[in-house]
Amino acid sequence: MSLKIRMLEFGSRSVVRLGGPLVSAHLLVDDAGLTLIDSGLWGVGNELLRVVAALGRRPEELRNIILTHGHLDHAGGSAAIQEWSGGARVWIHATDRDHVLQHVRYQGITRLCGVLEKAGTWLGHYRAPEIGGELIDGQVLPFWGGLRVWHLPGHTPGHCALVSEANGLVFSGDLFASYAWSVHAPPRFLSRDTKRVKVSLRLLAEREPQAVLPSHYDWMDPALHAERLHQLCYTPGGAGVT
Ligand SMILES: [Zn+2]
Ligand SMILES: [Zn+2]
Repeated sequence: MSLKIRMLEFGSRSVVRLGGPLVSAHLLVDDAGLTLIDSGLWGVGNELLRVVAALGRRPEELRNIILTHGHLDHAGGSAAIQEWSGGARVWIHATDRDHVLQHVRYQGITRLCGVLEKAGTWLGHYRAPEIGGELIDGQVLPFWGGLRVWHLPGHTPGHCALVSEANGLVFSGDLFASYAWSVHAPPRFLSRDTKRVKVSLRLLAEREPQAVLPSHYDWMDPALHAERLHQLCYTPGGAGVT
């Protein structure tokens, strides 16, 4: 089966989309190495291996896996990828660490999220990766020309966005989902603190990013998602973020 690589180029750097409209992870590629933002569900690891080979790179060049947060659809593939890469370092914010280790407690309406996650961990034989790096608000990770960590909690306590200032691109995780038929903040049952999600969304929108890649989206068009974010936050009668 032929492999279609969905890639955007930023000079000598590129970003490859893995997964699909349901949930995406992103592989960052440059001469210095390979970095993964989120690891998708369990199937992404196999796709990633094929992409790495097609790019003429080696699995061991993947040295870092950055998780925007601990939900299963973002962390699910981490353990397997960590193994075949020979020990890529997994990064996550300290307050989502327990989530990845499956020690999270769901309360109220978010119990439904917990049920879904439990089913997913069972179906996918989830294993927690070894966590070796802590994301700290404001720090710049020295990958892909520099990735600034932006702690934007609410969806989960440790939810972070990653900002590539060199390439003008924001990886916004689950702050919002962006589809032609619906642009929306995560539904209540998926977020720990919906009020805080709105604050985080507004903080992101106020920075007026020109290029955004969420984790749940239709087309790989960062300018389109930046525009939709703006509309979500500022259109009267929209999501009511302001
Ligand atoms: Zn999530
Ligand atoms: Zn998600």
